[in-house]
Formats: sequence, structure tokens, C-alpha cells
Amino acid sequence: MYETEREELVNNLRQRGIKNERVLSAFLKVHRHLFVPDIMIHNAYLDVALPIGQGQTISQPYTVALMTELLDPQPNHKILEIGTGSGFQAAILYELGAKVFTIERNFELYNQTVKLFEKLNYKIATRCSDGTIGWSDFAPYDGIIVTAGSPSIPENFKKQLKVGGKLIIPVGDKLNQVMKIVTKISDDKFSIEEISSFAFVPLIGQDGWKEK
Ligand code: SAM
Repeated sequence: MYETEREELVNNLRQRGIKNERVLSAFLKVHRHLFVPDIMIHNAYLDVALPIGQGQTISQPYTVALMTELLDPQPNHKILEIGTGSGFQAAILYELGAKVFTIERNFELYNQTVKLFEKLNYKIATRCSDGTIGWSDFAPYDGIIVTAGSPSIPENFKKQLKVGGKLIIPVGDKLNQVMKIVTKISDDKFSIEEISSFAFVPLIGQDGWKEK
């Protein structure tokens, strides 16, 4: 179902500059229409963010593809995702062979997505909590990907990253962020590159935006 639409989406991602063939083929494998509310199903393969309830969104496919390409997860890499949402980004990482750990703070979304992962037989470790403190039990990670906009880079993410690992995180104000690509060079040395400009829902928590 929707095979042609998935192929068109992948062609569109390729035209927009996504080059990693492994990432592009993961977009053919993951059925985005299963990750959006029924009412949105006909828009599932448009390159746009869509509402998923609870005031949250499934990110735009191009943004997911770009962040995944920047992270470049290899098979068996341990990857921590903050902001499970619909589960789509986690599913892409899983299809790339990564061991995925994902945290969602919203209980309704968490419940809904855990059920979907079970239905699709995705072995993804899930947790409902404040992701800004990370998930120390399984650290260090080869990569950490944050899918909500943060006011700064939480220290816990830097600590829980392996040396040589990469953290991809949108940082800025509540309306606009730049994508930071943070590489851990040694325990206390990091290199940071930036790409502008993005608009994510806020990362809310102890080391993110404070809930009103
Ligand atoms: N990766 C998601 C996907 O593929 O659908 C994108 C979801 S949305 C852009 C960002 C998610 O981050 C929302 O579901 C939101 O509830 C969640 N979030 C915000 N702050 C969080 C936090 N401190 N810990 C965990 N999740 C958080």
C-alpha cells in the first residue's frame, strides 16, 4: 500500500540533497501512513510535518532524513532518541540496524507508540520520562538524536555519548533553531557544526524549556 507515494517521497528527498542510500532505502521500508492519525493518512507521504495529537507533530520527512544522514548510524550502533512522538524516526533508525532507545515525556503518545512498535514487531526500547536527563542505564551511546527544540545542549547528552559519537540536536528559541552536530572528541572536548534553520516543538524538561 502507498508504494508509489513512498518512491515519490524518496525521489523528492534525493532531489533535496539526501545522498545516503541506506537512509533512502529505510524510507522505502517504513510505512509513514501507519505513524499518522487516520485523518491524515492521505497526506502521509507529503514532505511536511503533520499533527499527531497532544499538540505534537511527526517531523517533516526531509528533516528526519537529514538528521539521520548527519547521525549516520551503523548496524548495531546504540542510538538514543529524545522525543519518540509517532515513532517514525525511531523506526527509520531501527530499519538501519541500530539498537534504538527512545524516550517520550507525553504518556498518551508513549502508550500509543509502544503499541504500534509491538504491532510492527519493532524491538525498540521505550521509556516515558523527561528525556533531557538522558538514559544513563544504557550509556554510552554511539549517537543521540533529539527531535524537539532545546534552549541549550543538555550536559547529560554530552556525558552519555561515546568518544567518537555524535549528538544531533536543534538548539534555539521556541520558534527557530539551528541544528547542532556535536562530535565527542575526548571526554571533555567536543567539535560543533551548525545547519540553519528549523522549527521544532519545544523540548520540555529539567534541562530544556520549563513547562508553564
Ligand atoms: N521523533 C518524533 C517522530 O518521529 O514522530 C518527532 C516527535 S515531535 C517533533 C517531538 C516529541 O518530543 C513530542 O512527542 C514531545 O512530546 C517530545 N518531548 C518534548 N520534550 C521531551 C522530553 N523532555 N523528553 C522526552 N520527550 C520530549
